[in-house]
Amino acid sequence: MAAKKKPKEIEKTLKLSPKPVWDVLTQKERKTALDFSKGYKKFLDAARTEREAVREIVTMAKAKGFSETPSKKPLKYLKINREKSIALAVIGKKPLTEGFRIVTSHIDAPRLDLKQNPLYEDVDLALLRTHYYGGIKKYQWVAIPLAIHGTIIKKDGTKLNLVLGEDDKDPVFTICDLLPHLSHKTQDTKKLRDAIVGEKLTILVGSIPFPDEEAKERFKLNILDILNKRWGLVEEDFLSAEIEVVPAFKTRDVGFDESLIGGYGQDDRVCAYCSLQAILSVEKQPEWTSIALFLDKEEIGSDGNTGAKSTFLELVVSDLFRLQKKNPTSEALRQALFNAKALSADVNGAINPNYQDVHEKQNAARLGYGVCVTKFTGSGGKYNANDASAEYVGEIRRLFNENGVVWQMAELGKVDEGGGGTIAKYLAEYGMDMIDCGTVLLGMHSPFEISSKMDVYETFKAYKVFYIG
Ligand code: MN
Ligand code: MN
Repeated sequence: MAAKKKPKEIEKTLKLSPKPVWDVLTQKERKTALDFSKGYKKFLDAARTEREAVREIVTMAKAKGFSETPSKKPLKYLKINREKSIALAVIGKKPLTEGFRIVTSHIDAPRLDLKQNPLYEDVDLALLRTHYYGGIKKYQWVAIPLAIHGTIIKKDGTKLNLVLGEDDKDPVFTICDLLPHLSHKTQDTKKLRDAIVGEKLTILVGSIPFPDEEAKERFKLNILDILNKRWGLVEEDFLSAEIEVVPAFKTRDVGFDESLIGGYGQDDRVCAYCSLQAILSVEKQPEWTSIALFLDKEEIGSDGNTGAKSTFLELVVSDLFRLQKKNPTSEALRQALFNAKALSADVNGAINPNYQDVHEKQNAARLGYGVCVTKFTGSGGKYNANDASAEYVGEIRRLFNENGVVWQMAELGKVDEGGGGTIAKYLAEYGMDMIDCGTVLLGMHSPFEISSKMDVYETFKAYKVFYIG
């Protein structure tokens, strides 16, 4: 007869009891995790826009032997889509028609874009008009230092990449908020979302009049004169430009214990960085072809030719077939995509200490409890959700448990509180198994998002074991 189990043991065996990563990792693993976060912080500071993220990814991937035309085994493939989205892949042993492993993140982030004709002057100040990109809370973007990152196609077709506001020696830009003494009617008594309207998100860029007193719009003209002298620009160049405005502060450690990372653009460059490091760590030819896909336009619905709804992935998989010396017929391509297994690498929201009521705590993500698996996203009765199957969740559960990945399962917010989506549902249309899996953040979509260094590391571990088991 078996010995009777003590109540404590029964509790340990039967109950789900999540633990902070800090309690699980050894001192040595902790150090590895803390070192990992250093590289991540550098990446976050260098990749302030989707184009800059692509540039960083290309540099790091090429250093590890990835190429548009790989020839050395294991074959490490790289393909860029219009400087804004990119795929990396390592060719595996199994035929692609049996499927592949893919981790998909996005490298765009909420921000302000300049309007196509942005420059104007008013009350002796020069300003730029903007149209915000993605889900921002407008009040968070006023009265903070801002940097400008632009790609401008000039009249003759030459391309100018311009960054101003990131170097300590650079000037920065800002949006003028209203002083509290005079904001009672205009802002204070309004709903938070109406207190600052989109058209008032104008960027302050100058206050010196052009020296010719006869000239019209002298403050605007002086800025045009500076832009022309420094970069050879004329006002029409704005029309064929993409100029993004982002917070001008560096990624920092947060807390007395330096356990957290604060910075702009962590949604979703944290998952992008972790999937990048995961695929870079694939040294030997894996069983399954591994793909890391970095997409643009997630924050505005995944539309456009660089978003998840584009056919870029089909083009990539066709190339991979050729690298396996197979003909990418449309039938073979459909099979490969249908049999694939995917992690939608995107962030989830952690319980906010100040607003705990919006979460249902038993199913909410916690900072520091490891990489977060989200069976379904969406809102209002799972509408718009890619709801992963129990079988696929079971597979991911076994994979993570067997490989010592610290993970948590969560859904975003209370049932009727709101919600959000990721690219999961778009790529799932191919038939692949798909589940959301990424880092949790506090203050998601704010100019200064917070992550836990331990969660970042567990995210990397999760993607790595997903590729190589
Ligand atoms: Mn995201
Ligand atoms: Mn987002």
